[in-house]
Amino acid sequence: MTVRAYIGIGSNLNDPVAQVKEAAEELALLPDSLLVARSSLYRGKPMGPQDQPDYVNAVVALDTLLSAEDLLRALQEIERLQGRERDTERWGPRILDLDLLLYGKTVIDTPGLRVPHPGMHERDFVIIPLAEIAGNLNIPGHGLLTTLINQVENHSLKKLITG
Ligand code: ADP
Ligand code: MG
Repeated sequence: MTVRAYIGIGSNLNDPVAQVKEAAEELALLPDSLLVARSSLYRGKPMGPQDQPDYVNAVVALDTLLSAEDLLRALQEIERLQGRERDTERWGPRILDLDLLLYGKTVIDTPGLRVPHPGMHERDFVIIPLAEIAGNLNIPGHGLLTTLINQVENHSLKKLITG
């Protein structure tokens, strides 16, 4: 049985638009998985330290036979291949950040993996692109996406027109 997983993509270094597009292409190549939707790209202000470039974000939907743990490992491998260095400042600039947002309706709470991804429900750059491809999804523990979007402040997020 496949599970529908949603993955958040973010970048604010080394041509973020190209990084996000390349990550989506890599996700489409994952084994035992089918990329079923990709949101538009959005540009927005960073969370945390403000002395860093704007972010580009998108969300993709993947139907996968991989376990959540294997999928996370695959995401980290794509981050590594695109040159991300780990153990830098929290919420600091990064070439690529891939977050496992949702894995079906499953709730996971282990030291290395938490699903739904913590904080996703209050981040405009996650829930707005997610709604574009997922409709009015229920986020386990947080309720319906449309309700969450009405609660979130959308300071700076702009949809990008890209080729
Ligand atoms: P952040 O995305 O919060 O800025 P990182 O990308 O550096 O931080 O991730 C830090 C750690 O978060 C990873 O080593 C990973 O084990 C853990 N993690 C826990 N849950 C998730 C998840 N749902 N998706 C991605 N990483 C996760
Ligand atoms: Mg991450």
